[in-house]
Amino acid sequence: MSDRTFRIGPIRPPSEANSLLIQVTNGCTWNKCKFCQLYRHTKFKAYSADSIRADIDNIAYWAERVRKYERKGVSAFAWDIEGINAELSNMTDADEQQCMYTVANWLVGGGENVFLQDGNSTALSSGRLTDVLVYLRQVFPQIKRITSYGRAENLSRSTAEDFAELKAAGLDRIHSGFESGSDAVLKRINKGVTQEQQIRAGKAIKNGGIELSIYFMPGVGGKDLSADNAEGTAEVINAVNPDFVRVRTAAVKPGTELYQDWQDGAFELCSDDDKVREIRRVIELAGAKQDAPQITTYLVSDHMINLLQSVEGYIAQGGSNTTDDRERMLGLIDRYLDMPEADRRVFQLLRRTLRAYDLGDMERLGAPERDALRAEVMKENELGWNVRMNGYICRYV
Ligand code: SF4
Repeated sequence: MSDRTFRIGPIRPPSEANSLLIQVTNGCTWNKCKFCQLYRHTKFKAYSADSIRADIDNIAYWAERVRKYERKGVSAFAWDIEGINAELSNMTDADEQQCMYTVANWLVGGGENVFLQDGNSTALSSGRLTDVLVYLRQVFPQIKRITSYGRAENLSRSTAEDFAELKAAGLDRIHSGFESGSDAVLKRINKGVTQEQQIRAGKAIKNGGIELSIYFMPGVGGKDLSADNAEGTAEVINAVNPDFVRVRTAAVKPGTELYQDWQDGAFELCSDDDKVREIRRVIELAGAKQDAPQITTYLVSDHMINLLQSVEGYIAQGGSNTTDDRERMLGLIDRYLDMPEADRRVFQLLRRTLRAYDLGDMERLGAPERDALRAEVMKENELGWNVRMNGYICRYV
């Protein structure tokens, strides 16, 4: 590998698709969640401040090379893309080519956001993370937002003052895979965190001035804990008021411990309808309690594995312009749940095979095709159908 390359980790949230990725850690400090196999074969490593600074310097080197192709003063098509592509195709070192491509992509896309990888970057000592943030902003003053993943248990050990320091150094948003707010579900999936720790971490992050984006996994608790999963998650939202809740439909993937639990009979798959009902319950309960703080959380559906992609908007108490979002989201869910079972299954099939985006796409089906599909999907019993849908979902995670 040449001296001019930098590390690029594998995982980032979809919302960071245009962000520059800087790997400050490798792997995950926990590595034991039963549904996850992302870093199973990776030993956790936190890189030294010097090594991360060297990566930032190399990114700056490639940024300078890419900026030769900037057409200053030209508002539209402000980059000589052909020139960049020509230089890229003449490069003989594949690693360097990848680095230049990554930086060019970032700069051409605006060069505004950075995501610090991997699974738990906030496990870096706060001093080291602060150094990295300060240096990054010094080298690239145009950066508008820096975000990172953090594990809730780890985050719960820091105070609001600690987060305020990170905010002052330049960290704007923390993504955290809470998955569920139910202690029973968290235990079942071996998340290694409790609801109380999630709430403590969430409050400290928000009080420290950092945005919080949490992930919710409908269906991850299994059928018997489906209601718990929704209710516990709504409790966390009510206590913390996270900025974002991102829906990640549970996938029970071969090779994971959760899959083994299912095979052993210790876990029962939720249907797509169960998962949709969980989302409905969260929207219903968030902000519903009299003593809950004003909830301004935005529910995001930014992954193709979610069945109802259009269920997205503010989960908020009544009395503001966000009320419309709740009514619209609940209306969409009810429109789906009120359909006959055969139509719900047809929609699931179309969605899981990327032939439909939302319910309106069903209407484009001609009557003969719809009738044929209805007959086909109803041939399977409930278990067989849920297994088939889980198989489709697993292809995308
Ligand atoms: S904390 Fe995240 S990356 Fe680590 S095992 Fe759990 S889900 Fe996977």
